[in-house]
Amino acid sequence: MKYLNKTIVELHELLIKKEVTPYDLALEAIENAKQDTNNAFETICEKEALEFASSLKEVEEDNYFWGIPFVAKDNFSTKGILTTGSSDILKDYVPVFDATVIKKLKEKKAVLIGKTTLDELAMGGQGMTSHKGYTYNPYDPSHTYMIGGSSCGSASAMAGGIIPFALGSDTGDSVRKPATFGGLVGFKPSWGRISRYGLFQFAPSMDHVAYFTRSVEDSALALSVLEGQDDFDMTSSYRKTNNYFASLSKDLKGKKIAVIKELMDCLHNETILNAFNESLSYLKDAGAEVDYVSMDRSLLGAIYGTYLVISCSEATSNNACLDGVKYGPRNNELSSYEEIMVDARSKGFGSQVKRRFVVGSYSLLAENQNDCFLKAQRARRIIVNKVNEILSSYDAIYLPASGKTKNPFAGEKSTEDSTIIENHLAIANFAGLPSLTLPIGKDGEFPFGANITCRAFDEQAVLDIAYAIESRTGLKNIVAKGDK
Ligand code: GLN
Repeated sequence: MKYLNKTIVELHELLIKKEVTPYDLALEAIENAKQDTNNAFETICEKEALEFASSLKEVEEDNYFWGIPFVAKDNFSTKGILTTGSSDILKDYVPVFDATVIKKLKEKKAVLIGKTTLDELAMGGQGMTSHKGYTYNPYDPSHTYMIGGSSCGSASAMAGGIIPFALGSDTGDSVRKPATFGGLVGFKPSWGRISRYGLFQFAPSMDHVAYFTRSVEDSALALSVLEGQDDFDMTSSYRKTNNYFASLSKDLKGKKIAVIKELMDCLHNETILNAFNESLSYLKDAGAEVDYVSMDRSLLGAIYGTYLVISCSEATSNNACLDGVKYGPRNNELSSYEEIMVDARSKGFGSQVKRRFVVGSYSLLAENQNDCFLKAQRARRIIVNKVNEILSSYDAIYLPASGKTKNPFAGEKSTEDSTIIENHLAIANFAGLPSLTLPIGKDGEFPFGANITCRAFDEQAVLDIAYAIESRTGLKNIVAKGDK
């Protein structure tokens, strides 16, 4: 019997009825992970998972995560378990502490099954730069089209029905983009809502803990487990939280939803356009008012460059500790700090990460700062102001998550329009807004999604809008058939 293509809510019912035990679920997940042909895993925690799962005897009826197997992107620190960031420079790194979100999931008695591949150190969107090579999309056994990254392993494991819950991180779109290619719900709550303690820093002003589920209900449940102020993360918020699951409502009466016209002008895929328009009728049907609003195309065109300069600059500074002395393999035959550092970094990083450090170092040089880093900061502020202005009159911005239903590894020539439609999700990272991708259609076997972004800390509105759409599309709990 296969269980792990179910939602957390469904599994919880089976656990209560004792139709299945946490041990059965952990065993199935481990078997699934071992048979994975999509390069989703860095590490499978077989011994730890089975031991922990077999210790779970008394079902906790109010705790939906009791006995639920999960995986975490390999940039979350896990005590005693290898954590590589999919980079050779950390290929032997075993943290001595758990990230706060890992600790919270363990306290809920969720069972960590494994650590998943990512684009090296979360820098990338294609699932092509892990030190273990490409990560594949279970919807495409031919391995031609990507699952997307950087949370590629987590998305692939979810889409392949290996696991019902996966942690990822999202600095530009790294959960919400693979969610579209994997037919998943990918949620990045507000900056500060979930502690980032123990998540490898990429670009902390835009880094978020995010996660994949197979339904909006599961996404609401997970937020209540993961969120909350944390003394170990000074940027975590004291804001009041909510029982998102109990409060879920499909009734959107009084909600105003904005679609950005200039972004829609960049969408040239008929299948996505039709499904998107159909979903607008669902929103209206649920009681929402939908309007097209305008955002200057030059602002939209600036998103990618702004993201690149800020993220590369922050990444350069935050990864300076990976120097062969503090972290990373040290060549003891070398004597000076500079030699050790150059040796460790030359061997330890892949080419994409190196390129990004070049961009970051260039932007941060004193003589370039005004033209690069500070200019990008100013552009970010202008974009954020505009988005917050839209959100002062609207509850949400609703858009396609990508302009493609499948994205080939071989690459397609980008155009000005494709650059805009493929990078707009970073707006929510610039502004720290809660933002969720959910499936709205299928192109043959390939699912694709739309994205909802609301005001900071209004996670409930995001989830409610998603719930209303999901209940009408029926696209919930979908899993690829191909791989398993
Ligand atoms: N695709 C973006 C990048 O290449 C986003 C990465 C992320 O969110 N971690 O950096």
